[in-house]
Amino acid sequence: MSKAIIIGAGIAGIATAIRLALKGYQVEVFEAGSIAGGKLSEMKLNDFRFDMGPSLFTMPQYVDELFTLAGKNPSDYFQYKKLDIVCNYFYEDGTRISAFADRNKFAEEMAAKTEDNAASIIRFLEKSKTIYEITNSVFLQRSLHKWSSYFSWQTFKSLIRFPQIDAFRSMNQSIESYFKDYKTIRFFNRYATYNGSNPYKAPATLNVIPHFEQYFGAYFPVGGMYSISSSLEQLARDLGVTFNFNSYVEEIVLDKGRAKAVMVNGLSYGADLIVSNMDVWYTYQNLLKNFAVPERIQKQERSSSALIFYWGINRSFPELEMHNIFFTENYREEFKQIWEDKSIYHDPTIYVNISSKSKSDDAPKGSENWFTMINVPSNTGQNWDELIADARKNMIDKLSKNLGCDISQHISCEEILDPRSIDSKTFSYQGSLYGSSSNSQFSAFLRHANFTSKIEGLYFVGGSVHPGGGIPLALLSAKIVDELLN
Ligand code: FAD
Repeated sequence: MSKAIIIGAGIAGIATAIRLALKGYQVEVFEAGSIAGGKLSEMKLNDFRFDMGPSLFTMPQYVDELFTLAGKNPSDYFQYKKLDIVCNYFYEDGTRISAFADRNKFAEEMAAKTEDNAASIIRFLEKSKTIYEITNSVFLQRSLHKWSSYFSWQTFKSLIRFPQIDAFRSMNQSIESYFKDYKTIRFFNRYATYNGSNPYKAPATLNVIPHFEQYFGAYFPVGGMYSISSSLEQLARDLGVTFNFNSYVEEIVLDKGRAKAVMVNGLSYGADLIVSNMDVWYTYQNLLKNFAVPERIQKQERSSSALIFYWGINRSFPELEMHNIFFTENYREEFKQIWEDKSIYHDPTIYVNISSKSKSDDAPKGSENWFTMINVPSNTGQNWDELIADARKNMIDKLSKNLGCDISQHISCEEILDPRSIDSKTFSYQGSLYGSSSNSQFSAFLRHANFTSKIEGLYFVGGSVHPGGGIPLALLSAKIVDELLN
């Protein structure tokens, strides 16, 4: 039986372990942390439970697919519910918009609360769908780095329609051509942050993202976001995969251009196949002796990072949904500060996620667990302690003003995650959430491939490599590696 070693038990590492076990490999996973999930893990703080990283769950079919492939009934392991209201948006002028899952209801809500009409919203969502239909099979479902990917009827059809993906203007330029109200424009520009990019720079092709949320829906797992990781870990174990925790891989050992073994705590573990779920930057820098980080990867701008306050809140707020956005007054300036000044704007857009709205045992009765996050630049040596202290004050002031009560009086416990700790906890270079940014039209082609022609038997999965970050794409990276091995 051939042996495969996976470096890292992030969601992509676990998905790869499952796929390789189903291919007949004996699979062993080495994970530096004490639990599986990587960014998709959980934390207990007093009587509160928090999902540490992702909170928005789209494309659940990619999780279900793994159970189905293994001949199991997905719902025996993992259940989730569709959200009727995806997110509540709060604007500085007092406008509140609910993003309904139902497309027509959502378009009517936008028309009622903005100067734009329902038909323009529908037209934009149709455009988003068209981009998805053209890009899905070419950019997301297969390797961009194998000639064979380009010789299919599907790809040929997509390439003919290529001009429609709108790659040569920014997301914001395209959105402004559809809408006149700044509230609608801001609403759709925010989707750039779903992969850590800047809407004033990122190609309008990324206007595909609303389609994922509006067409396929947003969901919440019954057991919390962490149950995505834990249920897949359980499936992997049921298929015979072995997990070693607190086991940092120190080196990938090469022999005549082939990956042969990994070193963990000074011991060598041999394998026929090695898959790295570690950020590709650190894989080169820390694990591959005699290999520098490829120049192409070094030149790529990193995606943004996040500053998160996990707050136990000792009262409840009926006006809040599970997902809530409190917009800044000046979106362009906020992105300028993040991307050009590498700093934090004094009036940041705040995301408040409250999983206890759906999973009541995540907080004591009458309380709520607030995951309070802002987008920040990746870590390039800023004075974070100072930035965090200022941001905390500004965020509390803004939330207090919007909600009409002094939030600081209701924070009963707190934990903080910032770019430095995202980096040190999950080995994500500079604490970037999604590997490299997608701020250029060439980003998709510049991301590292899922293999390297320089080292046989070594593959790469996860948010830092093709096709990109976020749970759905990380899961697709495992699928692409699976197909590369056919
Ligand atoms: P990771 O989760 O980074 O896992 C890598 C694992 O490898 C880690 O467990 C690490 O400890 C381990 N490892 C690394 N090096 C070694 C080594 N040498 N030896 C052993 N183990 C090693 N995505 C969404 O879809 N929706 C969201 O709402 C969303 N929000 C986010 C919010 C935050 C705050 C963060 C941090 C991320 C968010 N994301 C979101 C992105 C999403 O979490 C990631 O894209 C995805 O989880 C990445 O999974 P991964 O498997 O690539 O890597």
